[in-house]
Amino acid sequence: MEIRRNVSLKAFNTFGIDAKANYFVAFGSIDELREILTDEEYKTLPKFVLGGGSNILFCKDYEGMVLKNEIMGMEVIAEDENHVYIKSGAGEEWHKLVLFCVDNNYGGIENMSLIPGSIGAGPIQNIGAYGTELKDVLVEVEALETETGKLRMFSNEECKFGYRSSIFKMEKGKYIITATIIRLNKRPEFNTKYGAIEEELKRMGVSEMSVKAVSDAVIHIRQSKLPDPSESGNAGSFFKNPEITKEQFDKLKELFPHIIAFDTNDGNKKLAAGWLIEQCDWKGKRIGNAGVYKNQALVLINYGNASGEEILNLSKAIQQSVMDKFGVVLETEVNIV
Ligand SMILES: Cc1cc2nc3c(=O)[nH]c(=O)nc-3n(C[C@H](O)[C@H](O)[C@H](O)COP(=O)(O)OP(=O)(O)OC[C@H]3O[C@@H](n4cnc5c(N)ncnc54)[C@H](O)[C@@H]3O)c2cc1C
Repeated sequence: MEIRRNVSLKAFNTFGIDAKANYFVAFGSIDELREILTDEEYKTLPKFVLGGGSNILFCKDYEGMVLKNEIMGMEVIAEDENHVYIKSGAGEEWHKLVLFCVDNNYGGIENMSLIPGSIGAGPIQNIGAYGTELKDVLVEVEALETETGKLRMFSNEECKFGYRSSIFKMEKGKYIITATIIRLNKRPEFNTKYGAIEEELKRMGVSEMSVKAVSDAVIHIRQSKLPDPSESGNAGSFFKNPEITKEQFDKLKELFPHIIAFDTNDGNKKLAAGWLIEQCDWKGKRIGNAGVYKNQALVLINYGNASGEEILNLSKAIQQSVMDKFGVVLETEVNIV
């Protein structure tokens, strides 16, 4: 392993922010990870685990060591008549796993096609899209406890998954995810009710449903709606959809009859953050090098050489206007570092 000094992180985060890491190292196995964590010379340095950098905003240089996860491998470890279990190294790309399932017609994660980033980061915020979340297929997470170097398996329940949340997000830095095991369906049942999937399948002229057809539809919708990070730096949805009580919602609905909301399982309401931001006239606005994407107000954009601080300031101004107009707190989904 090569430990490098003063490394630019520009190529390692999809916002394209040019922050520097004091130390930078890539690890490809659990043994290498343990070696780094216990090395006397670097033991006391703050450490940050990096996957694909697609859910991070670096606001300053990182005064510590960035550990780039490159634990690879993807294999079917068990199967029965109806299911197949796949274990994947945390450093593998999420979409590569989706494509493996598409090729084999294994159902379960096709609605989460094209989510950028690594497999190991998936459980952190319980990635989700188009009515499906990682928790729906996840069996176990393998993670290393940073303090003890012990490897631990977490069952789905132990991961304490919630909306864009998990034990790994709540106890940040305590565990480094090294692998995941997910369960896919050999007789897929499709969930096409969400968003424009059905419309897209019709447009594509699909007569026979398959994992590939749904995945292709999702990919097409995403490509038409979301900016490509290689062209405009971004980290997908910058904010979470805020959850409020039914009573709060009823009051807002009287004032704003067109407000968009979804029911949650526990009787609350989840507001569409994009709609709230749009109503505050932010959609398509640009301040210096930072801006709000013209087609989706949830996405903040680096138009060129924006600093993390510029993007953060824009996000704070948006949070303030949503608070002023609706009295609703907008939480960030992106990890601010
Ligand atoms: C265009 C675009 C669209 C997106 N669409 C979606 C979407 O539809 N749904 C969705 O849920 N997300 C979406 N995202 C966000 C992002 O893709 C996910 O959050 C993804 O899981 C991040 O993976 P990553 O490897 O890039 O994580 P990183 O950005 O590298 O890291 C994210 C956080 O996880 C921690 N972390 C990373 N790997 C590990 C590990 N192995 N162990 C412990 N901690 C770790 C990091 O320290 C950091 O705090 C989108 C992003 C972009 C740019």
